[in-house]
Amino acid sequence: MSFLELAGIQKSFGPVQVVKDFNMTIEKGEFVSFLGPSGCGKTTILRMIAGFETPSAGTVVINGRNQNQLKPNQRNIGMVFQAYALFPNMTVHDNVAFGLKIAGMEKSAVDARVKEMLGLIHLDHLADRYPYQMSGGQQQRVALARALAPKPQVLLLDEPLSALDAKIRVSLREEIRMIQQQLGITTVFVTHDQEEALSISDRIVVMNGGRADQIGTPFDIYNKPATRFVASFVGTLNLIEAKVVDPATNRISIGDQGITLREPLGAVKAGETVSLALRPEAGSIAEGAKGDTALTGEVASSNFLGSVIRTRMKVGDAVISFDMFNAPGLSPPAVGEVTTLRFTASDLLIIRE
Ligand code: ATP
Repeated sequence: MSFLELAGIQKSFGPVQVVKDFNMTIEKGEFVSFLGPSGCGKTTILRMIAGFETPSAGTVVINGRNQNQLKPNQRNIGMVFQAYALFPNMTVHDNVAFGLKIAGMEKSAVDARVKEMLGLIHLDHLADRYPYQMSGGQQQRVALARALAPKPQVLLLDEPLSALDAKIRVSLREEIRMIQQQLGITTVFVTHDQEEALSISDRIVVMNGGRADQIGTPFDIYNKPATRFVASFVGTLNLIEAKVVDPATNRISIGDQGITLREPLGAVKAGETVSLALRPEAGSIAEGAKGDTALTGEVASSNFLGSVIRTRMKVGDAVISFDMFNAPGLSPPAVGEVTTLRFTASDLLIIRE
């Protein structure tokens, strides 16, 4: 049996259904991210796990126990929110001690546990500070220590990094992942930042309009997007409309250039349109390359992004972006120049939904 089960979960606010028949099982110690645009229902699912919202249908089961009738404080769940939400009139020590005191733990045991938690987040030296005397990143680490102190069975993180600046966000997400693995705590993380989700999760749920479009490892979500929505939401991606030339041989054309796909086209007819996905990093410039794994076109723009130069090339009606890695001596093609992009046939994915 899985540790956390969400079975047939639905949630409506008035006439609006914001979560539609959601099903998922999460293993003990797993780190699962819910990723999606604003309003897709990810926070609502998190809040149903926590007990702040009641599902309109379905059950939340943790460690074999149905949680539906339990109040938030009966669920033994730790939660960290986007806003730091520390008690402003309490020191760091007292913030972390709060849940332990409420649970009736003895003072010496509380002190020992607080010390252990502050050690975990490397803030032992700030135990006597107040929240206003600390940076946002430090406050979020205290919020994490406070959530973990009572040894919750599940940790819920609701966009805990989005109020922080870019550098701190990256270092804190790595720290969260390290602590999570060290403790082996089952964790559900909500974010709208695809890079964040890809970098720290065991699995990602890509939410779209109250449903999961895809649940998979970061590798699968990025490399094998199940739907057009996942393909476009996770990473920059070319979505190219191609014409079917011969379904029997998987032959398609982009503009007037023919390509034989590796993946079977399936039940489509000649003349129909299919959508193909191509990642910008999949191709490279190869002047004079011809055949099934090359496309020739005119360069429409070229942007220096630091580690890569992103170039956009017109092929028929399609505009295809591709990245060249920055290196000494690299000379990107000029706007207006005709150039050839080479890739492997398996880089072109058919997007069916
Ligand atoms: P965000 O990143 O913006 O928080 P989200 O994916 O987490 O987005 P939810 O917060 O789950 O989205 O909200 C889903 C939808 O449900 C939204 O349209 C929101 O306005 C609506 N909603 C959430 N809570 C309530 C509520 N208590 N009453 C009415 N509508 C609500």
